[in-house]
Parts: sequence; structure tokens; C-alpha cells
Amino acid sequence: MRTLLSEDELTTGVNQLAGEIDQYYGSDRPLTVIAIMTGSLVLFADLIRRLSMPQRVGVIRASSYRGGTSSGDLSVDAEMMIDVKGRDVLLVDDIFDTGKTLDRLSGMMLEFGATSVKTAVLLHKQREHVTKMRPDFVAFKIPDEFVVGYGLDYMDMHRNLPYLAILEPREILETAAHARGEMIAEEASD
Ligand code: 5GP
Ligand code: MG
Ligand code: MG
Repeated sequence: MRTLLSEDELTTGVNQLAGEIDQYYGSDRPLTVIAIMTGSLVLFADLIRRLSMPQRVGVIRASSYRGGTSSGDLSVDAEMMIDVKGRDVLLVDDIFDTGKTLDRLSGMMLEFGATSVKTAVLLHKQREHVTKMRPDFVAFKIPDEFVVGYGLDYMDMHRNLPYLAILEPREILETAAHARGEMIAEEASD
């Protein structure tokens, strides 16, 4: 694995992100903070503990049906959503890639009656986006590579890594085996 952002760098970035959000909203105004599952899980847990305003927290699930690492059609599950009517909403996601997820979910929050909607992401991929909207708060800009760790997955694996990394081709095969629940035979050492 090639580390793109170390644990320390992530901590610094998340602290800065929280600082910007705090400054924007202030410490008195109640905020409804929504985690976009599952990728924002780790960021969300760290971020909400660093924000100083009164918060209601909720979750919504979005996933793009992807063949491996490329993006496809978005499916949204709002079953676990909390009421956002008349609330200031902050949507939190792991990464802004094509922009489809946050564009669609921001629209949904307004349809649900939110007073305002802002978006915060850990990562902003430097590539062409298919939407006009851009995230309001961003911790890091990263190159157009598929990354894992700190909540981001490949086949639902690697979310638990405390750092952000790029998988080597060999590790992609290993991950697929682990995702099927298989153990990798130890390579013979010389
Ligand atoms: P968008 O809708 O902006 O194209 O994609 C956002 C979602 O795609 C993210 O929430 C994340 O789940 C997934 N995604 C996009 N790029 C990456 C990446 O480099 N690594 C991983 N693990 N997921 C990604
Ligand atoms: Mg996601
Ligand atoms: Mg994923």
C-alpha cells in the first residue's frame, strides 16, 4: 500500500475542517449533521466530536452501483433519516468524485424541507465533475486515484485503516479474496 495521507495528516486536516465549519456556523446555532453512509463513518465520528455547536446527528445511505472502482447509478436509502424540516443541515461525505452523490442528496434535503444545506468532505478528487455543485468544506484535495482507508473501502474492506492509501495491483486481488472471507496462503519465504 502506498500511503497518501498519514494518520497525523488526517488528524490535522479534520481539525482544520472542523475549525472552518465552526467559524461558519458559530457555536450557538443548532446544526443537523448527516453522515452519508458508509464511507463517511470514520470522518463523521471524528468531525462531530470537534464541532462546538449543539448538534442533531443522523444518517442516510447512498451507493453507486459500481463495477469495481468506477462510478455508476446512485441508489439512496433514506429509511434511517431524521427529520430535517426547518433545520440547517450539514451533509458529510468521505470524498467528492463525480459530484453526483452530494448534488443529489443536497437536493433531497431541500425537498425534505431543510432551511439550508451545506456539504463537508474529507477529500476532493481533482478531476472533471459531472455536476456544477462543489463541496463547501474540504479537508484535502487529492489526485484522481482510487483511495482506501479512513472509512473508504474497496469491496467493503480497508475502511478500518487509520491512514489513506492507494492499493497496489497485487493487493486488489488479495482484498477480493478477503472480501469473500478467504485467507491468503502465506507465501513461501526464502
Ligand atoms: P461521487 O458521487 O462524487 O462520484 O462519488 C462519491 C462516492 O463515491 C463516495 O462517497 C465514495 O463512496 C465513492 N468513491 C469515489 N471515489 C472513491 C475512491 O477513490 N475510493 C473509494 N473507496 N471510494 C470512492
Ligand atoms: Mg459514498
Ligand atoms: Mg465504496
